[in-house]
Amino acid sequence: MGFRAGRIDKAEIPARYHQFLPTRTVNSVLDVIPAELVASGKTIVLLDADNTLLPWRAEDIPATTREWLTQAQAAGLQLCLVSNTRNKERLERLSQAMGIPFAVGRFKPSREMYDNALDRFDAEPDQAIMIGDQIFTDILGANRSGIDAILVRQMNKHEFIGTRLISRLGEKLIWRKLLDAMEEELDDLPIVEPTGFFHRRIVRQFAKFCIVGLTSFAVDYNIRMTLQFGTKVKGELLSQTGGQWMVSHVPFMAQMSHTDAFFPVAAAAGASLAIINSFIWNRLWTFRIRSREEAGTQFGRFLIVSVGGLVLNVLLSSLFNHLIPGDPKMSARIATVMATGFVAIWNFMGQRLYAFRPSPER
Ligand SMILES: [Mg+2]
Repeated sequence: MGFRAGRIDKAEIPARYHQFLPTRTVNSVLDVIPAELVASGKTIVLLDADNTLLPWRAEDIPATTREWLTQAQAAGLQLCLVSNTRNKERLERLSQAMGIPFAVGRFKPSREMYDNALDRFDAEPDQAIMIGDQIFTDILGANRSGIDAILVRQMNKHEFIGTRLISRLGEKLIWRKLLDAMEEELDDLPIVEPTGFFHRRIVRQFAKFCIVGLTSFAVDYNIRMTLQFGTKVKGELLSQTGGQWMVSHVPFMAQMSHTDAFFPVAAAAGASLAIINSFIWNRLWTFRIRSREEAGTQFGRFLIVSVGGLVLNVLLSSLFNHLIPGDPKMSARIATVMATGFVAIWNFMGQRLYAFRPSPER
């Protein structure tokens, strides 16, 4: 499971995981905008050193890190190192080189270093933010002290063997939850949060929903046409042999041609696969449901929304058709297009607020 950058909504997952969760994940400390921290009321930034600001055991501070530290200080933030390094001399050297103090105390996730850092600046937990690359030390320790934390992608694969073998394995379990609680992925978005209309989440979701709708139409259309005209059984068209069976077994079809009698079967197959197509893609892509739980319940709700949409479609298009004056063919076309638009909004909102709504505490 790869690292993903995004905002975390803790309310989306059970409380027992909250201690392990950052409020955000970022690819690099450079993605944290100091001015945004200040704007959100933070005055203190507690910083892990290894694999957050510089590679594990390194002595040289990357130029980009230096630049970021300068920017953060210029924005008015107080900085403090909170590191679990056993090499006190190196920590002193780093602190000197960066020009920022370090906290002393028992190792993270103990609260001691965090509390000492807060005391040093005479600050409350909600004024501080922790930035670090490890869930079981940096993030857990911060949360235990009531401090929000940002999880940063580890700079470098090299790290303490115990970290690599044990902590990172445990982190994989937390990541499953993290992805459930991730509000939106920021990997493919600019660092500065866009606010324009087309960047709003609901707008992007609706665009995806419309694309899924088109693929479902393509699935439906192709299945119908293939079953009706392109499938042969023992040299004869399936719609002929199947239709023959329908004509002789279904009372009111007795007068129909074989292919016409078979059409409802092809239509039902196409429409069913289109519904399954819509469900799968809207679930995974449009609404980004990550957990495998509740797929059954969601499919049930999805069907309820879809059937509601079908009824609404029939009602609205009949009403519009009745109300729109002029050429009957034209009013039927306009009525169908208008009803399709309304029903698309119905289906979208139904899926968003009901079928795929985030569940409360599980
Ligand atoms: Mg670290």
